[in-house]
Amino acid sequence: AKVEGRSTFRFFAAEMDRKLQIRRLLELDLRTALEKGQFELVFQPLVDAGRGGVCCFEALLRWNHPVRGVVSPDEFIPLAEETGLIKAIGRWVLQSACTEAAAWPDAVSVAVNLSPVQFNNPFLAAEVVRALDVSGLDPRRLELEITESVLIMEDALVLTTLHQIRDLGVRIALDDFGTGYSSLSYLRRFPFDKIKIDRSFVSDLAAEDNIAIVRAIMGLGQALKMSVVAEGVETVEQQAVLVGEGCTELQGYYFSAPCAAGHVHGLIDRLRTV
Ligand code: C2E
Ligand code: CA
Ligand code: CA
Ligand code: CA
Repeated sequence: AKVEGRSTFRFFAAEMDRKLQIRRLLELDLRTALEKGQFELVFQPLVDAGRGGVCCFEALLRWNHPVRGVVSPDEFIPLAEETGLIKAIGRWVLQSACTEAAAWPDAVSVAVNLSPVQFNNPFLAAEVVRALDVSGLDPRRLELEITESVLIMEDALVLTTLHQIRDLGVRIALDDFGTGYSSLSYLRRFPFDKIKIDRSFVSDLAAEDNIAIVRAIMGLGQALKMSVVAEGVETVEQQAVLVGEGCTELQGYYFSAPCAAGHVHGLIDRLRTV
């Protein structure tokens, strides 16, 4: 048994080594990905539950790796955050998303994800101003998505930055709502325009608990005058329940997967009547 234990350990150690190795290689490639033009934004529509039609697209980052193909952001964003590369990558995302959106109809906004690490930067608000200036995008057509982990930083700089950004007319959404900690007190202290109900509550709406949670979030949104978005909507049944509960915007594969920038105008047409 002792021998077996040791070889199991060796197996795990080798497996860890291999994973670390892959990480290190990926990190090396990540350092040059920006200058090599390997990043791309894809766009997923948010549909207005009341009026119908697309009101916004969320910009989602893709890394087209020359050997490994498309690498998922869940794999490389954490790496970019650890290495600080997220600052330059995030700047590129913001600038590119604004530039794309400036060519869309006026009624359609763009939502950009911000990493908590990007808030360790006194010039973040200035970078937002610059992206708007360079693209010519109306600030009211830009939305920034942050997660509760930003708020856990409990930092005066975070609050100042959020207020500076909001004073520009840019909206702020709280992403993945319900998965973090002490959400309620944060909601009162920070100036959000929007709450995005996490996909995990939407995926199993048949579960009584999840409906209760969605209902509670809707109540919160109404009380605090924040609109509520449901993400991860995959079926017509989910759509019906969420609209019935009063969600103002819906996003998910039921409407469309994220698509290449060139398909945005076609999607706006196709989704005009949903
Ligand atoms: P997120 O911000 O919560 O984005 C939503 C994720 O759910 C996206 O995955 C999207 O493709 C996926 N999704 C959309 N609709 C459905 C659906 O109906 N069902 C299911 N199962 N999934 C759906 P993606 O593009 O792989 O992005 C993963 C995460 O990576 C994002 O989660 C976000 O946290 C991060 N991310 C993506 N782009 C950026 C970026 O530009 N900057 C930063 N900082 N993070 C990003
Ligand atoms: Ca998001
Ligand atoms: Ca989310
Ligand atoms: Ca997420």
